[in-house]
Amino acid sequence: MPFNNIGEILNNVKNVSSQISSRLDLDSLSKSQAPLVFWVGCADSRVSPNLVTGTDLGDMFVHRNVANIASLEDANFVSSMEYAVGVLKVKHLVVCGHSGCGGVNAAMNKAYPTPTIKNWLSKPEKDFEWVLKNSSKKLVEQDKLSFLAKHNAQTQIKGLLEHPLIKEAVSNGELTLHALFYDIKSSSLELLLTLDNDQVSAA
Ligand SMILES: [Zn+2]
Repeated sequence: MPFNNIGEILNNVKNVSSQISSRLDLDSLSKSQAPLVFWVGCADSRVSPNLVTGTDLGDMFVHRNVANIASLEDANFVSSMEYAVGVLKVKHLVVCGHSGCGGVNAAMNKAYPTPTIKNWLSKPEKDFEWVLKNSSKKLVEQDKLSFLAKHNAQTQIKGLLEHPLIKEAVSNGELTLHALFYDIKSSSLELLLTLDNDQVSAA
């Protein structure tokens, strides 16, 4: 149900906390975490990683930003990634794009609400322009958006192999990378691309 004010959200914590404590061993969870997945997703309010996957506290280490960009030039992202892969030793790294992504739409149309967002999406903007120019598919506007969001998620996981920590973990078979696409209307996840040690050693 939609919340109308912050007080309602704060009050709701009491209801939720009893559900959480009956479901999980919070004593042991409070001492450590051992997530299976490092999830990189969009900051969009409709694509909450734990909610859409039905996972729980402790299951996924999460990093979110506008348009799920996994940039090795972004210290914020790299800090999360190095902690997840290097310290927590997650087995799977997911980059999840989604339908109706405002960030992808902004980069596609070169129409940005603020200069900082324009700067943040400068790399995808150039990439999208090139991809649309070179695509053999004839895409209508709505399909273009999902096509680019899917392309973007795959581009992000491919780019991550340039980081030595990720390259090594994937080569050793300790880490698998996945590009996913979440469709909001059907609440479904599509697996777009998997990169594991077979692909990396074949490349
Ligand atoms: Zn988005």
